[in-house]
Amino acid sequence: MKVAVLKAPERIEFEERDTREPDSNEVIVKVLHAGIAGTDLRIYKGILKPKLPLVLGQELVGKVKETGDMVDNISEGDTAVIEPVLRCSRCEYCLSGRYNLCEGLEVLGVTTDGGFAEEIVLPEYMLHRIPEGIDIKDAVLVNPAAVAFYAVKKAKISFDEKVAVLGGGPIGLSAVQFALRQGAEVVLVEPEEYRRHFAERHFNVETLSPEDADDLSGKIDAVIEASGNPEAIGSATEIVKRGGRIAVAGAFGAESKLNFSLIVRKDIEMHGVWLYPNIFKRVIGVLDRGKINLQPYITHEFEFEEIENAFKTALTEGAIKVLLEF
Ligand SMILES: [Zn+2]
Repeated sequence: MKVAVLKAPERIEFEERDTREPDSNEVIVKVLHAGIAGTDLRIYKGILKPKLPLVLGQELVGKVKETGDMVDNISEGDTAVIEPVLRCSRCEYCLSGRYNLCEGLEVLGVTTDGGFAEEIVLPEYMLHRIPEGIDIKDAVLVNPAAVAFYAVKKAKISFDEKVAVLGGGPIGLSAVQFALRQGAEVVLVEPEEYRRHFAERHFNVETLSPEDADDLSGKIDAVIEASGNPEAIGSATEIVKRGGRIAVAGAFGAESKLNFSLIVRKDIEMHGVWLYPNIFKRVIGVLDRGKINLQPYITHEFEFEEIENAFKTALTEGAIKVLLEF
């Protein structure tokens, strides 16, 4: 089977590899669709530097091709979305259900080979069956939506509050949708005009460029940082009200200069948002009830063989989510 391997920043090569035999608790998944994630792009550009060569790919939908002897929650022929997090299931974090903090955590396409491949072998617990009513192109976007869901949950947004989402990529746009569902008044802060117009058109929210965000100073109950720009955290501390909340889902892998005295004096509640524990099934439920709409994020689609083109396109203005079809 064919695998796309990142050999060096901005250099992807195809290789032929054998699919290994699944262990008793594992399944072989034939990949159907994969999204190019922000993490994939940061590794491709050399901004995040995991060990190479590496197969990228963490937003995945596939069909179960073969199951190990002990697999009992999913069957051959099922279509499933993959939660790209491997855990030890033994450490104190796993045992308390916070497996996103697992001491042995592995993330597909970051610390171990991911899913830009025709087939991938994974433990059964990483697969979530997709209900009949959900389009698989929505399902492939459950991963960024899960980060947004967890961020909005941590920010404890309530009805009638004013919420600012920083960054209009798939995580930010999903945070906009979840915050609107919570009854909040939402403003999206995003530098790209194309993304601002997209959010206004699809989700009917107010938008601002970061230069105009000063207008929000001291007026926001909760901020969701989803831009990945380290400077945005500083801006979050400015725009949030006294006693407000900030959930940081974006900016990891970069250092940020923060005015801690502002955080202290404004009595700000600050939350890190690392992946998501036990959130995938809940996002699938929300999708199944038609409460959020992820498919509009898909601006471009490519065949797996055109992966280099897909990455180049994903780095251009006007691309929100680029999908690969296998
Ligand atoms: Zn663990």
